Amino acid sequence: MTAQAVEESEDDQDEREREFAAVIGLEVHVQLEADTKIFCGCSTASTTEPNTNVCPTCLGLPGALPVLNEAAIDAALKLGKAIDAEVPDRTRFHRKNYYYPDLPKNFQITQYDAPICVDGGLEVRVEGDSREIGITRAHLEEDPGSLQHARDGRQTSVDAAEYTRVDYNRAGIPLMEIVTEPDFRSPAEVRGFLSKLESVLEYLGIFDAGRDGSLRIDANISMVPEREVGADGSISAEGLASANRTEVKNISSHKGAQKALAYEVTRQRNALQRGREVEQETRHWDESRGVTISMRTKEAEADYRYFAEADLPPLEVAGRAKEIEIPELPDARRERFAREYGLGQEAASKLTSTKAVADFYERMTAEFDPDLAATWVADEFLGELNYRDMEIEDVDSRLGEFRRLIELVDEDELTSKNATTVLREMLDEGEEPESIIEREGLGKAENEEVSAAVEAAIEDNPEAVADYENGEEGAINFLMGQVMRETDGSADPGSVNEMLRARLDG
Ligand code: ADP
Ligand code: ZN
Ligand code: MG
Repeated sequence: MTAQAVEESEDDQDEREREFAAVIGLEVHVQLEADTKIFCGCSTASTTEPNTNVCPTCLGLPGALPVLNEAAIDAALKLGKAIDAEVPDRTRFHRKNYYYPDLPKNFQITQYDAPICVDGGLEVRVEGDSREIGITRAHLEEDPGSLQHARDGRQTSVDAAEYTRVDYNRAGIPLMEIVTEPDFRSPAEVRGFLSKLESVLEYLGIFDAGRDGSLRIDANISMVPEREVGADGSISAEGLASANRTEVKNISSHKGAQKALAYEVTRQRNALQRGREVEQETRHWDESRGVTISMRTKEAEADYRYFAEADLPPLEVAGRAKEIEIPELPDARRERFAREYGLGQEAASKLTSTKAVADFYERMTAEFDPDLAATWVADEFLGELNYRDMEIEDVDSRLGEFRRLIELVDEDELTSKNATTVLREMLDEGEEPESIIEREGLGKAENEEVSAAVEAAIEDNPEAVADYENGEEGAINFLMGQVMRETDGSADPGSVNEMLRARLDG
């Protein structure tokens, strides 16, 4: 392509982006960490043995009654506090009726007109811009069971399946459904929101990101004419209502959300540009193929015949909401790190991105200089993990080894450059720092060896010494070169420089 052609296609793209703006709202299901299910005493522990964490209540057997788990309420109230939501005086549960084999009662206990949290928000930062995303409501509900489609005893897709098995271990796991306002203007903002939300949930200690299916996302998306968007990003109610939107289901990760929405933005924009309408419909995100597929079913609310759950009394939660305490959250911790440890905003953000990272950094500051710890944790350690698509949780049991690596740098046993090499090998080979250093000879030359080389350099080069004494700074570089050669480059240049000066100036 010629330069001109590139420019033109970029112009075209700009123009297209100017015509329509993406409007996105989320419904996020998060699994709340509690020892037992929301309406019975069954364990929520992961197990590979199907239908073992079950009882008459979560199997929906006749006559079995639900008993609300206090821990789920507390988790919901903590989240409410963290997102600055209002907790109404009274909250209650409803039955959402539908028939599906993973739902043994043929209804799901959820919340409808009196959810436990309303009117909250969460600040997201994307590329330096900070925006407030409104949270319409967040309510408690029970998870259905899970279906496994199989053929010849092996799991497969629903289309290829011969039969389907159902596992009720998941039925009754406490979930929180968080519904946002249609405040997102790009897939990148959605991704930023999801990481922020996940981080807040982890800080609160009510969420385990590592658990399979702990985060499930439905994303609503429409395209509205750019002229409907105000300078502050707001869109009129009519603008929102008049745009046909799709609901994309089956998204299970931040990355998946960003990809699915980017796909939908392009698909809808292309349809509109060709003068076609966007169908109002539910679509399925096919992760492996990277496309959304029409499911052509959008249930209306009336289809669910919501009615009040008579087996659970309304709940007065306002008092408990006031009492409940929450720990320091990511934003507050970021500000404190910046203040207390003298970090820049970027380093402070990185170091508080997850609770595990922040905890590790803070432990390191107790022993080492905060700047040194920040460089090693934020730049080196997180950088190398990120490069390998790993999280700090993946090396949870090895944090002591990383501490020792920082210690070796701190005690001048290892140059920074060599420490980076050691870090990479630690991650790639699973080895401990000391054995890598020994095998590869990466340790700083023994002090005696360096001092001997310094002595020899001074003795053998009287002219350079005389030059230095006559104020010729450059002579020190020559002497350093001699020492480095003598020690096969393993000596730390900074300390050789210091040692030479100490000897010559003394
Ligand atoms: P429904 O009754 O169809 O479930 P809701 O009003 O409950 O609709 O909204 C469901 C989700 O759709 C919310 O996350 C909301 O932010 C989002 N939403 C509403 N209007 C739009 C729109 N024009 N474009 C994209 N998302 C929207
Ligand atoms: Zn049970
Ligand atoms: Mg709705």
